[in-house]
Amino acid sequence: HEMRLQQEAIENVATTLNTSNKIRLSIGRPLAESGVWSTSLNPANPTQILAQIEEANEEQVEAAVSAALAAQPEWSSASLPERATILRKAAAYLRSHRSEINAIEIMEAGKPWLEADNDIGEAIDFLEYYAIWAERLDTERLDSPAGETNQLRYRSRGVTLVIPPWNFPLAIPMGMTAAALVMGNSVILKPAEQTPITASYIVRAFEHAGLPAGALCLVPGRGETVGAKLVRHPQISTIAFTGSRAVGLDIIEAASHVAPGQTSLKRVVAEMGGKNAIVVDMDADLDQAVPGVIYSAFGFAGQKCSACSRVIVHRQIFDAFVDRLALATSTLIVGDPRDPAIQVGPVVDDAAFAKITRMIEEGKKGSELLEQGTLPDSDGYYIPPTVFVNPDRQSPLYREEIFGPVLTVERADDLDDAIWRANDTIYALTQGVFSRSAQAIARVANAARAGNFYVNRGITGAVPGRHPFGGFGNSGVGFKAGGPSYLIQFADQQVISENLLRQG
Ligand code: NAD
Repeated sequence: HEMRLQQEAIENVATTLNTSNKIRLSIGRPLAESGVWSTSLNPANPTQILAQIEEANEEQVEAAVSAALAAQPEWSSASLPERATILRKAAAYLRSHRSEINAIEIMEAGKPWLEADNDIGEAIDFLEYYAIWAERLDTERLDSPAGETNQLRYRSRGVTLVIPPWNFPLAIPMGMTAAALVMGNSVILKPAEQTPITASYIVRAFEHAGLPAGALCLVPGRGETVGAKLVRHPQISTIAFTGSRAVGLDIIEAASHVAPGQTSLKRVVAEMGGKNAIVVDMDADLDQAVPGVIYSAFGFAGQKCSACSRVIVHRQIFDAFVDRLALATSTLIVGDPRDPAIQVGPVVDDAAFAKITRMIEEGKKGSELLEQGTLPDSDGYYIPPTVFVNPDRQSPLYREEIFGPVLTVERADDLDDAIWRANDTIYALTQGVFSRSAQAIARVANAARAGNFYVNRGITGAVPGRHPFGGFGNSGVGFKAGGPSYLIQFADQQVISENLLRQG
């Protein structure tokens, strides 16, 4: 029954996704079209156009910044509980449109139903979690001796630019947008090129919730043009970015330039990539470790920042682990995510397909190919789940984030060697261990250079409140998304100290 409802939702949405479906710039008032359009495609069937997307021009970018600035005073004067109410109403909208958005994600991002559903669930959780925290952040009383009072307040910073990736097309942009909005900032959301239809539901949810016009502007366009222009705009105060390290570094550098007359220095909150490892200790339960690694490496075709891309296995268990991993990889079903039976869908677009294919081919030159899954007979952007053993540890395959269904497996002499190998990366996002020894688990966890560490479970999962998520090192700067400190990054603190004694 559940599956029939899912198929119905997909069929209903499919009839609305075509070239006449237009995603336009939205700034709270009508604006002439830019006349330049790109398309959003189905990665499982790239000849299928799902929508035409307006590419914002310079005038529109300026108009969006003006609209966001104009909306700022009214929105920031609403109280924290009033703003929290808007977030809760937006969450209710997503709940009531859950299967529709789910069907769109399946076709726009190539996510299997369950993965898409998790993304929408996470977006709802972000809204409700930040609503709770915003209410807790109302004025705090500070220590005050007799005769004075001291208060800490959180003030909005001004217009926030949100630049998300496509891989959690609702949750990540929603999390950043909701946090900025609830702290009283207006927001300009530049959606990822690959998933603008899903992102447009963020605007719909907040419109429905009663957010004042202009407080959330959707400005679609390419990163290198529209994104870069917005990042450099002197009236942007905060930038919330999630995406690749290369783009993150570019944004951090650009944001450090201060234009003449610019009143605010830009604050950048950046979540970037990873090259995540799982350590499989000699006493690990392979019934747990093999599926854990498979899900972590190949779930959503490896297109998660948290995905495992390196497995480091104790030599005593290496052969047994590798045999079972190869078998499990060979039986994965790759195909169109509209089919509920498939386990691995396509990668997001032709550029991702070309990059991952090239890395696999280069990888074959220095590393040993262990197993590749089978592919459907289709023009979709499918990459077979691929496992290498004994990787060349200096190769891009081992060093760079691949962001596809590709895994390397290496042998460690002992636990210390495994720990050293796991940390041998510039990134510090996720890491995990499979072991039955509390002492070994503690040793790996204590040494791990990773913002999120997973014990005896696949290394994914970012449930707001339960698993606040984010890395350090080259994986990001800022407090964890879905954690108690995240919101204060979108505010300036102000202390009011009042003398209660009469002078003289
Ligand atoms: P990306 O860096 O290519 O693009 C991210 C966003 O930046 C897009 O909206 C894009 O349009 C924009 N952009 C590109 N160039 C820009 C520029 N010069 N100026 C301003 N904006 C620009 O990343 P992607 O391919 O969309 O996403 C995959 C990456 O995201 C991976 O590296 C992954 O690890 C990372 N990611 C990290 C997290 C995390 O929480 N740490 C979560 C999800 C994804």
